[in-house]
Amino acid sequence: MELEAWHLLVLPLFFALGWVAARVDIRHLLKESRAVPAAYFQGLNFLLNEQPDRAIEAFVEVAKVNADTLELHHALGALFRKRGELDRAIRMHQNLVERADLNQEQRLRALYELGQDHLKAGLLDRAEEIFRRLLDSAYATDARRHLLEIYVLEKEWEQAIALAGELERAGLPAQGAETAHYHCELAMNAMLRQDTEAARRHLGEALARHRKSVRASVLLGELEAQAGRDEAAIEAWRAVEAQNPAYLPIVAERLHQAYRRLGREAEGIGLLRAYLDRYPSADLFHILFHALAEGRGWDESRTLAAEALKRTPSLRVLDDYLQARSAEAGADDLETRLAQDLVHRQVSRTTYYHCARCGFKARQFFWQCPACAGWDSVAPERTQHD
Ligand SMILES: [Zn+2]
Repeated sequence: MELEAWHLLVLPLFFALGWVAARVDIRHLLKESRAVPAAYFQGLNFLLNEQPDRAIEAFVEVAKVNADTLELHHALGALFRKRGELDRAIRMHQNLVERADLNQEQRLRALYELGQDHLKAGLLDRAEEIFRRLLDSAYATDARRHLLEIYVLEKEWEQAIALAGELERAGLPAQGAETAHYHCELAMNAMLRQDTEAARRHLGEALARHRKSVRASVLLGELEAQAGRDEAAIEAWRAVEAQNPAYLPIVAERLHQAYRRLGREAEGIGLLRAYLDRYPSADLFHILFHALAEGRGWDESRTLAAEALKRTPSLRVLDDYLQARSAEAGADDLETRLAQDLVHRQVSRTTYYHCARCGFKARQFFWQCPACAGWDSVAPERTQHD
């Protein structure tokens, strides 16, 4: 290709254009950065130097001076809520809600955030009122989810049941298991008032809503046992095996006592043995051990523990074994008593029910975790941790 003379003119022109473009860009940048308050860069600096508290103070200054920074307001509000600085989060979002220059969508978003601040601060009445105002907006589903959370916290079970139904109709996953718990809570309240008819009705609704509601079967059995109908109580508690056998340790002792009251103790022990064969569990073992000791004496329960120890050595079974040995030997065998005392104390100190969701531990079983409010998150079997 031959280089023509005019090419020599075009090349410098391109360079010149590039230089002008760069200048324009830099000017634009400089203009923008002059519009951003210096506090913003200070904030960035603190953030990069891992000084989050000072960064926040700098960003708050930016938000005060520059009302356009809506996203910054939201980011700070969310951050305050996460850090538990709820009064600051509430002030930040309240300020946004009251601003006249925001459009409807922006105001609703701020309102939704404000509702969450109040909920986290435990100001349930105000949170409820805000979420109710959002029921006709684009935030309706999220508002309903939070309202459900509020009704559960307030133990407003009727309202919780209605809202769970609304959420399902809005296309959210089925709430059957939780709704069954709400019905069970109503049944327990009725049982406390000794209104057995209402209790029975609520338990029927729980089971209709969630066929596998173990808690409904447990309560139904209690209702029957309280009325002296042990046969019916046994039927309710035995249903747990088909619902979820992991919960058998929760009903095993009740079953054993009901069989005893009917004078059919051998049948009860046979049932516990069959459960233990099918669903090995340390709690079930412990209940069978005591049922045997109570019904047939320490000799048989000690043999059971000795065999179990040979198969799988465990501190909990050793505790049972030593208890049988110590009871058989009487007060004279000081060594066995001392050993049993030591092992028993260690087992009691380290054996708990655990929440699989948050790690909460307790000596008592809970259908709803007191720490994280999860339903059915506490495992129905105690575990030992050294
Ligand atoms: Zn929990």
